[in-house]
Amino acid sequence: MPDTSLRTPKLLSVVAPVFDEEELIEDFVARACAAAADYEFELVLVNDGSSDGTPELLDRIAASDQRVRVIHLSRNFGHQAALTAGLEHAAGDVVAMIDADLQDPPELIPDMIAQWSQGADVVYAVRRQREGETAFKLATASWFYKLFDKLAQVDLEPNSGDFRLLDRRALDALLAMTERSRFLRGMTVWVGFNQTAVSYERDARHAGETKYTLRKMLRFSLDAITSFSHLPLQLATYIGILSATVAFVAIPVVIVLRIFDSYLPGFGAITIAILLLGGIQLIALGVIGEYVGRIYDEVKHRPLYIVRDERNRPVAPGGSPAPQAVRAGLAARVTERIG
Ligand code: UDP
Ligand code: MG
Repeated sequence: MPDTSLRTPKLLSVVAPVFDEEELIEDFVARACAAAADYEFELVLVNDGSSDGTPELLDRIAASDQRVRVIHLSRNFGHQAALTAGLEHAAGDVVAMIDADLQDPPELIPDMIAQWSQGADVVYAVRRQREGETAFKLATASWFYKLFDKLAQVDLEPNSGDFRLLDRRALDALLAMTERSRFLRGMTVWVGFNQTAVSYERDARHAGETKYTLRKMLRFSLDAITSFSHLPLQLATYIGILSATVAFVAIPVVIVLRIFDSYLPGFGAITIAILLLGGIQLIALGVIGEYVGRIYDEVKHRPLYIVRDERNRPVAPGGSPAPQAVRAGLAARVTERIG
């Protein structure tokens, strides 16, 4: 029995990035619409530069259902950028973000809204079980979450993906973070507010295969760690201090050995020491390079994504995006704020 004193959503936005998902996009739309049917809602689908039949399918769905909004990006900008595009265009006072591959069950959204009604501002879904993932993906994901937990300054629930529901206040705070390397699941924790978890069983992908290649996953993990931790940078300092200490201890040892004319380790040991120190220095430089590269990306201030076309843009003010067809994300927001 629902308690009427609790808050109810005026408009629910369900945001999903879509990249080459022609096999399952219709099923996703059907299930998402069914799950949100009890609310006033909009489904915001971001076509992240798909090269298969997805764009045409999306246009057809949008033509037959006004509640489905489609944002076509000008090329593939990647999962996190596409998701950001959807979040920026969402007009709702409650916004759910979800993968379109049906690994995240849309049917969980009403449960998440129930938590929101009781005062939670950020509701994240924690997967109890992950079906149909390769052992490799499970192992790397578990290493990543352990490493992230050790290094980063935000407490990220392990096994929580990007399946989240945000209150408008939390979403606005999130969108005010204009950084380019985006790790949205960390950023939604960073903004604070009331955070609550709901758990679910993660299904196998409905059709098609993962769009995250090993390369993309590695980039993504590096983005995540460098955005939320300076420890890798400081690591070089600690290792440097350690090796310098060892060197200082070694000096008197060598002198004493020399005086007593003992055997001194020769060429081999020196080669090892040089290789080891050289290696450590190169790694330290590489770590600095990762951060410097990201600083360069940030100062270039390029938009995070570019919109090529849009379907079913709401006409009412409030959340409706700028009128021009080509709209650049985040950078546009920043100039709006400054100018
Ligand atoms: N996706 C996207 N752009 C990309 C890669 C993925 O929009 O460059 C979308 C994809 O269509 C899906 C979601 O992001 O809806 C999650 O991708 P995927 O299922 O491939 O990732 P995984 O679940 O394997 O981590
Ligand atoms: Mg998936």
